[in-house]
Amino acid sequence: MTDNIAGKAIVVTGASSGMGAAAARHLARKGAALVLGARRSDRIAALAAEINQAGGRAKPVTTDVTKAEELQRLVDAAVETYGRIDVLINNAGVMPLSPLQRLKIAEWDQMIDVNLKGVLYGVAAALPYMIKQNSGHIINLSSVAGHKLFGGSAVYSATKFAVRALSEGLRQEMAAYNIRTTIISPGAVKTELLNHISERDVQQANQDYVGEVGLPPETFARLVAFAINEPDDVGINEILFRPTAQEL
Ligand code: NDP
Repeated sequence: MTDNIAGKAIVVTGASSGMGAAAARHLARKGAALVLGARRSDRIAALAAEINQAGGRAKPVTTDVTKAEELQRLVDAAVETYGRIDVLINNAGVMPLSPLQRLKIAEWDQMIDVNLKGVLYGVAAALPYMIKQNSGHIINLSSVAGHKLFGGSAVYSATKFAVRALSEGLRQEMAAYNIRTTIISPGAVKTELLNHISERDVQQANQDYVGEVGLPPETFARLVAFAINEPDDVGINEILFRPTAQEL
């Protein structure tokens, strides 16, 4: 079987917990050279140390994806450290669900800034390098909520529908530059994502559900590795996965 992960320079946003951290560990074991971005510096420093001690390669770079210049610094770090950027995983995201009538406007702004504008800033930072290299791979996190609506998901879903639209536009425009794109839409996965829901009733309902059916974040790690590992002339453009027991 071809190994198209070993030696690749891969940048992961939101690498301090959940699916980003699981993907970083998994890809490092497969020989990728990682750059880890998130706001919690202590978490990404500890993860990078763990990977490096195990014989892998990882560099932490404190990054807030709502700031375009910080994403540029994150992507630049891959080129400075490893000489190139092969893959960008735009994984950072927040999901403070609530019904619209509760008017949580600051949380709406945060979801748009992190989930949508953060992805765009990542694309802006990586594209010039990838176009120059005439190769690259951009992986964006949508969600089952980027395909369907559920209680309190209107704004979160709006950001995740938008990620799918921009990823398809990116795919079409980058075909000529040998740059692959992948949209990954997870169903329920057990991570820290629900910790930041401020509306207690909404948080409780979601915690109960995800606690019951949620998959471990390592599921995502295997699937993102699958998309990267395919030969460069194959674009795995969309992956949607759910727990088998998830109805939505
Ligand atoms: P976690 O809460 O465990 O991880 C989210 C990550 O995003 C953290 O590493 C966090 O790091 C980072 N993040 C949040 N805000 C910012 C910011 N402003 N700048 C940089 N990083 C930021 O959740 P998941 O692992 O579940 O989430 C990963 C992705 O998967 C998200 O895009 C989410 O929407 C999506 N998803 C998750 C599902 C699930 O069921 N878990 C289902 C469908 C999609 P830090 O706080 O240190 O900055």
